[in-house]
Amino acid sequence: CGIVGFIGEGNVQEVLIGGLEKLEYRGYDSAGIFVVDKEANGHLFKEEGRIAKLKSEVNFDLQSVVGIGHTRWATHGPAATYNAHPHRSANQRFVLVHNGVIENYKEIKEEYLQGVELSSDTDTEVAVALIEYFVEAEELSTKEAFKKALSVIKGSYAFGLVDQLDPNVLYAAKNKSPLLIGKGDGFNVIVSDAMAAIEHTNEYIEIKDNEMITITQDNVIIEDVEGNVIERESYIAELDA
Ligand code: GLU
Repeated sequence: CGIVGFIGEGNVQEVLIGGLEKLEYRGYDSAGIFVVDKEANGHLFKEEGRIAKLKSEVNFDLQSVVGIGHTRWATHGPAATYNAHPHRSANQRFVLVHNGVIENYKEIKEEYLQGVELSSDTDTEVAVALIEYFVEAEELSTKEAFKKALSVIKGSYAFGLVDQLDPNVLYAAKNKSPLLIGKGDGFNVIVSDAMAAIEHTNEYIEIKDNEMITITQDNVIIEDVEGNVIERESYIAELDA
């Protein structure tokens, strides 16, 4: 029920864990982070229970360029480390965090993912498997595959997506669940609540339902479902750090 994502210059693990600590008050049962380092290696840390426990597992010395973090409030599958987010696709290329509920996850599994082995009980893992399926079976780009997955998925979601083969991009989208973009100097973030990154930036951009968000270290692209680029002004969040 909380999301933090970061791309650019900074200690990615510190920003993600610090952000998850700020979201702790909302309640959660497990948490995790995924980062990609400068050598394009992915590192996944997840734990049931307290953020402090997760924090003690994280390697803060990694020089990372992108990352996503999540606090989970279980809706599909028990609170357990294997159900904690981020969720990774079977071939390990895509990693996703999700707030909300995917209503048609069973239908998606039956229609597209018969041959795919899933390793959690969550609705979320079906979404990341579907993205990988579209990339592999239909040879779509990550962005097109994400977009196509969004057109199939029904329900509520805020998503943060990382493609380990392209750690210069962080993808995001939302429907009926909160998600914001935070703009920084040399970095950008996504957060489910501005509170999670207010220490780092007070400049935010709203995301609307069904938009496709592509974020790099120094650029944010917002597109509607037809692929038209939307210009949107940022605003200053008045919160105490
Ligand atoms: N439905 C997802 C799950 O059960 C996400 C829950 C959440 O919003 O934290 O893992």
